[in-house]
Amino acid sequence: MTRRLEITVRGMVQGVGFRPFVHGLAARLRLAGFVRNDPHGVEIEVEGPSPAVDAFVAQLGTSAPPLARIQEVLTRERPAAGEKTFVILRSVGAGERTVLIAPDQATCGDCLRELRDPGDRRYRYPFINCTNCGPRYTIIRDVPYDRANTTMAEFSMCQDCRAEYENPADRRFHAEPTCCPACGPHVELLDAQGGRVACTDPIAETIRLLSEGHIVAVKGLGGFHLACDATRAEAVRLLRRRKQRDLKPFALMVRDLDTAARISEVSDEARAALVGPERPILLMKKRSGHRIADEVAPRSDSFGVMLPYTPIHELLMEGPFEALVMTSGNLTDEPIAFTNDDALTHLMGLADYFLLHNRAIHIRTDDSVTRVIAGRQRFLRRSRGYAPFPVALPVESAGREILAVGPELSAALCLTRGSQAFLSHHLGDLYNLASYDAFLQAVEHLENLLAVAPSLVACDMHPAYASTRYARSCGLPVIAVQHHHAHIASVLAETGRTDRVIGVAFDGLGWGEDGTVWGGEFLICDLGGYQRVGHLAVVPQPGGDVSSKKTVRMGYVYLLEAYGERAERLAEALEPDLSADERRVIARQIDRGVNCPGTSSMGRLFDAASALLGICTENTYHAQAPMELEAMAWEARAESGVYTCAIEETGEGACAVRASDIIRAMADDFGNGVSQAICAARFHNSVSHAAVQVCKRIREKTGLETVALSGGVFANAYLLERIMPLLEEEGFEVLLNSLTPAGDGGVCLGQAAVAAWRCRCV
Ligand code: ZN
Ligand code: ZN
Ligand code: FE
Repeated sequence: MTRRLEITVRGMVQGVGFRPFVHGLAARLRLAGFVRNDPHGVEIEVEGPSPAVDAFVAQLGTSAPPLARIQEVLTRERPAAGEKTFVILRSVGAGERTVLIAPDQATCGDCLRELRDPGDRRYRYPFINCTNCGPRYTIIRDVPYDRANTTMAEFSMCQDCRAEYENPADRRFHAEPTCCPACGPHVELLDAQGGRVACTDPIAETIRLLSEGHIVAVKGLGGFHLACDATRAEAVRLLRRRKQRDLKPFALMVRDLDTAARISEVSDEARAALVGPERPILLMKKRSGHRIADEVAPRSDSFGVMLPYTPIHELLMEGPFEALVMTSGNLTDEPIAFTNDDALTHLMGLADYFLLHNRAIHIRTDDSVTRVIAGRQRFLRRSRGYAPFPVALPVESAGREILAVGPELSAALCLTRGSQAFLSHHLGDLYNLASYDAFLQAVEHLENLLAVAPSLVACDMHPAYASTRYARSCGLPVIAVQHHHAHIASVLAETGRTDRVIGVAFDGLGWGEDGTVWGGEFLICDLGGYQRVGHLAVVPQPGGDVSSKKTVRMGYVYLLEAYGERAERLAEALEPDLSADERRVIARQIDRGVNCPGTSSMGRLFDAASALLGICTENTYHAQAPMELEAMAWEARAESGVYTCAIEETGEGACAVRASDIIRAMADDFGNGVSQAICAARFHNSVSHAAVQVCKRIREKTGLETVALSGGVFANAYLLERIMPLLEEEGFEVLLNSLTPAGDGGVCLGQAAVAAWRCRCV
């Protein structure tokens, strides 16, 4: 029997080779009909024998092209029209646009084969791409996604490229960034003064310069990297000096999985993530016997490793390197440089040479950073390769699109459309003017791409954050969401939960509603609201931010809490970096309460422990002391000792965890000659146990059985991998972030989810 079926496919189905795929599938099944793009995705009609039509629908979902993400397939029976052929029709363009824009994708296998095939017309061409791979988000200026709306607009296609572009049977059918050596962009090598280096092959010359120990700024997909040979200590040292970055680890790029496995411990999950089309940087434990210079990641137990993701990288990695340092092209804390002018002005003096090209990057996008924790890849930074792929919200925003502007540090922002939340690329720390500019540009970019004008803004409660001030200046209704509520809401949004849970939010800091700085919080919450039912006992943070940087100060504060008068003698022994004068100043600040907020921050507790064990006395980069403490704990991974600590009722029906008990027991141990590693492990174990105790108390009072864990402290794999099984043994269901960072990069998602829920209820 002949049947005709109308099929509407929604999701990421444009610019990813979907129409040629549909064409091919229909041809194989001998079906007639048509396919075309419309503003919501792809519209198909097929006609033929019923079993073939069924097979078509089934295979549409199972064998779609690699970059396609199907969100919805709607079908409707139609009267047969007696057609005999299958055709690709012109797109229909008018109306509201809801099709998804693809993130940038690593070079695909087919393109790599052509890149290395001397007979191919794109042999060794550094910009080879196709519908299955290449730049997307970083080159798109506007929707619809046509070449004219990308930074490839200025290159007009040659006849050969045009023929491929127009041939439905070709892999490059409607591949908007397609090009070749005859018609596309080119690379160019400049010296430190910006003068052209005369050479026939800029890539081969770059390889030669790198292997001689030079530092080269390399223009990639979302911005510039500073590259050098990672095995040459003097080159890496020089790069550190020029970047004014003493200790923060540099990312590495390696040729292949074998090399990655030679220098680091690659788990199965990490292996899959490394070769995926998103190509994030994966943090993995160092392996002994590697040849990488110590200066790449001093005092760290891990390397951040990625595989090549553009043809330029693929060609560079043919050089004789075990690995290249590939660190973002900026001075510490500035956004990554992404235009040629940017690079030449800002990286002058940092790089010896510049490998540039003339394909513009429209929106700078840093590398994403992930780590396998508790058996799954989790985000430390979600950016290139993932932005702007959306996260589905468990609630529709009732026709009011929401701009959620995130917090202040490691920020990202998010824009909703219907029930989808689109997260931006990583924006950095917004107190930095250049980062704030990037923030403004990202707002505009996302609004353009999604063709959405928000009617509501969600922000942090912190009144001084640049993002909050921006939100207040928009002239739109504003919903301020408490920072830790937003952290937990990000987990609820990701996991599709609208019920009440116990939220455990551990991080460095967030604006508390009682005038103290929060960061070790236990909440009862759902998307609508929260109640603070537990927290770390509040301690003074003399000098505010100074004590976030100088960890010895928090070490001293906790000694005072734990030992009272006896703290002096211990501080002398444990904290030689903190002078008697400094201690006096701190004590006076605490006494007078001047510039001395109270804090329940878990980050500060980790800082204190790290300082008191003599591991890290100053955070020279974000979360350095906690990371070094964690690395130390892994050295005693079998240790099961736990320090007990009191959990006290606070009078308002909440409880406070007296973490100074843990610090006292740990300092006693350390004073008695117990090793740093065992003390660090016991510290982690103790925090885990205390958290589980509090969750049990909350369950007794409320009957809630689900715990959501979030906040930057849960980038700590040792901690998460202790807390999670403990909670599960106690019968709790545990929810975690896996689509967005547990850290502040995920806060915008939580803000959007809370705001969407609240305006649904109005
Ligand atoms: Zn390709
Ligand atoms: Zn061409
Ligand atoms: Fe936070």
